[in-house]
Amino acid sequence: MEQEAVQRLAAEAVREVRRGTPSEDGRSSVLMLVNAILDTALAEEATDIHLEPMAGRLRIRLRVDGLLRVRPVVLPAELAPVIIARLKVMAGIDTSRRNRPQDGQLRYVYGGRTIDMRVAVLPVVDGERMVVRIMDAAERFLGCAELGFTQENQEIFERLIRRPTGLLLLCGPMNSGKTTTLYAAISALNDPNCHIMTLEDPVERRIEGVSQFEVHPEAGLTFVAGLRAALRQDAQKILLGEIRDGETAEMAVRIALTGHALFSTMHTEDAVSAVFRMIEMGVPPYLLAATLSGVIAQRLVRRICPHCRETYPVAPDSRAAVQLGSMYRTGMTLARGRGCACCHGSGYRGRMAIHEVLPVSEGIRAAILTACDREALRRAAEADCGATLWQDGMAKAAAGETTIEEVARALYG
Ligand SMILES: [Zn+2]
Repeated sequence: MEQEAVQRLAAEAVREVRRGTPSEDGRSSVLMLVNAILDTALAEEATDIHLEPMAGRLRIRLRVDGLLRVRPVVLPAELAPVIIARLKVMAGIDTSRRNRPQDGQLRYVYGGRTIDMRVAVLPVVDGERMVVRIMDAAERFLGCAELGFTQENQEIFERLIRRPTGLLLLCGPMNSGKTTTLYAAISALNDPNCHIMTLEDPVERRIEGVSQFEVHPEAGLTFVAGLRAALRQDAQKILLGEIRDGETAEMAVRIALTGHALFSTMHTEDAVSAVFRMIEMGVPPYLLAATLSGVIAQRLVRRICPHCRETYPVAPDSRAAVQLGSMYRTGMTLARGRGCACCHGSGYRGRMAIHEVLPVSEGIRAAILTACDREALRRAAEADCGATLWQDGMAKAAAGETTIEEVARALYG
């Protein structure tokens, strides 16, 4: 970093602020200082610039390769308001308002390239905190649109994650992509207006702007301890890595009841089983009925290798036609991979998710409350669930993205 250049400009800017006018040649040191900060961030291929007012100083940190730099630039506090104001002007943000979060965009030319930056400002106790996200360099998390949801399921998923309260459960065995889906949800919700906290074992990926807490049960830092801490930290949305025991389950439900949105995972086969597992763990059905907003079951299936993909017709009396059920159409074709060097002969390359998305309706609530009977709940779920895991898998096989055999393998081993 041209730290020296920044510090030299900062000294000039301090004099300029005290004097109240630009230097004799009419050039504003504040403006040059702000440009130097942006140039430095771009030269270092940072994804974000954090400008943080602290007692007596303004700390500037850069996020590079996903990590905030350990060695920050520290400037005198009196520069904070002018630097923030200059960036606000560049981003088209109202400079007269300092008491609410605001967002803006700016375009900056660096090395002949025009670079879009997104600016978010948030009032904090020591002034205004700003994050400048450098768009073209921003590390891309898997977005909600890339999770493999069908259009209908994706709309339900996005609606579920944006609910301000309630419990959303993701279920599936190990390595079914649950964490990726939850990270996508958190990334979609991550903005300066929302305090998101994650309680993880361990923290798998750093997410900028999210408070991530790693549980260490042996040191007493359990999920339950993390949940208590999250409440005291005024978290609005909480990602709870996993519900493994009754104490965690009940506390999660109680927190979801009191104006927080909670996302968590469970190791159950399907959506309905997750509901029963919660009750088996001792969560009172009336609490579960009041707080559960949705359950999503997920599996990963392999995609057909694009290099050796071929299609074949499905005969009406074939096993595939039976397996496709209502998705079978006369004259339809399915796809498969012949096997090639690219896929090491397997016929598959890459993976995608299949889902069962169950938004909790009044019918399901009633079944949880009154019946607590697996069959009643299953019937209520079938009425409300767009597609089961199997049906979603068949739809993706019918679309030529994967195969019936692969869906069967993922679901039934
Ligand atoms: Zn292949």
